[in-house]
This record gives sequence, structure tokens and C-alpha cells, in this order.
Amino acid sequence: MSELSLAYIFHQQQLLVDHNFQLPRVEKLASDLSFHSDDQVIARDLLDNEPIPEGLELIPIRQLLPLWSTKQFEQASRAIQLLEWRRNHKFCSHCGHATEAHASEYAMICPACGYHQYPRVQPCVITVITRGEDEILLAKNARNTRSNMYGLIAGFVEVGETLEEAVRRETLEEVGIRVKNVQYLASQPWPFPSNLMIAFKAEYASGELCLQEEEISDAQFFKFDQLPEIPFKGSIAHAMIMHATEGTTVADDTREWL
Ligand SMILES: [Zn+2]
Repeated sequence: MSELSLAYIFHQQQLLVDHNFQLPRVEKLASDLSFHSDDQVIARDLLDNEPIPEGLELIPIRQLLPLWSTKQFEQASRAIQLLEWRRNHKFCSHCGHATEAHASEYAMICPACGYHQYPRVQPCVITVITRGEDEILLAKNARNTRSNMYGLIAGFVEVGETLEEAVRRETLEEVGIRVKNVQYLASQPWPFPSNLMIAFKAEYASGELCLQEEEISDAQFFKFDQLPEIPFKGSIAHAMIMHATEGTTVADDTREWL
């Protein structure tokens, strides 16, 4: 008789939880993804026609973030990313044969040609930019039409680029200004879908604000004491904005900072 496992059961970007937003415990199946660090935690996808067990409901993951501890969020984040990776690597990208999960590593292996596919992380830079002693640049994402939230400049690192070059390029592309004194702050794994957010601070150097309209619908330098709506606590953007405007210190461990 096996013990029940704590289960992350996903359906699209939603997770099964009970009415107290806690995870269910279930019998482990051979096809479940187990966490190598802890066999009593599993992850799987809810099948399309599978009924939702009584007492449980599907909740969008983003709604759960503010309710969970950083540790819970990180485990959920790992579960989402590993499941998505497994779903997207059912076949060998080299020869097209069906793959098999490695017994002890996070790897999908091709039995025909031996090719190993590992989970990939996408590095993404995010930058808090200040001007003078009391102004911060905040930008509104053009795709966000539902709220009036202002966030930070962010974008993916391109092949062959350093992180600092990515910071300077993204800032110039999105808002038309040049920055100086680019400095690393912290990092946070972010599972939408499989990013590693790498946080920097920088200072305004030159140029007038000129927006890339497909990406940014508005950007302004705001006085520290007159901020608009900003990202929720628990996100790295929130911690970065607090660091810039209120001088909260950056912890050695990002987990303690958020
Ligand atoms: Zn192959």
C-alpha cells in the first residue's frame, strides 16, 4: 500500500486545489512526473474528459500566487515547466522517433538514435531604470488592456548577446532611451512558460522617450511618491520597484527578497 502523494494536477494554466487552495493527495501513477528531490510529490495533466473530483476545483495559477509562500510557488512553477517540457518533447527532434522519459534524470531520450532532450530555460532581462534622485521609469504593456498597471522594461536575451547588452537593447527598442551603470540585482524562475527573470538596475543616460507601440502603450518617469498601479507583491518587478523607490535592500537569496 503506497502512501498518497501531494499532487499538482494541471489543466491548461489552471491547477486543481481544494476550497482552502491546498493541493490534493492522490495515488501515484507510473506515468506521473515525480520530483527527484521528493517522491511524495507528483505532477500530471488532467485529461480532457476526466471528471473533477468532488471538493476540488480548477483555479488559474496566477490567482494562487498571492496566496502561496515563495516555496510553494517555486515547486508549482517547477511542476508546470517540467510538465510542459514533457508534453512538448514526445518525439525526438533529431530523428522523429517517439521518446521515453529517463528513469532518474529530467531528460527525454530517443531509443532510436540516443539523442537526449533536456528542459530549457529562457533567460529574460528585466530592468528598473531611475533618473536623478527621485524618478523611476514605468511602462504599460500594450497587450495589457484590462488593467492600468505599469511595470518594468523586460525582454528575452538574444543568441550571442551578454545580459547587459540585452538590457541596453531592450530599453532602446521599447522606450528609445540609453541607460548607464547597469548592475545585476537578483533572479527569479518564472513559469509563463519557462523563463528565468534576471533583474538589473540602471540609470537614465540620454534620449527622449519614444515608444515601440506594439509593445508599450505608455511610459513615463514617475516621482517616487507618485507611483501608478504596479505589479503585485511576490513578483520580482514589485521587489525591484521597492528597492529603487524605498531603498529596500537586495538579499543574497532572491527568495528572501520577494
Ligand atoms: Zn532520435
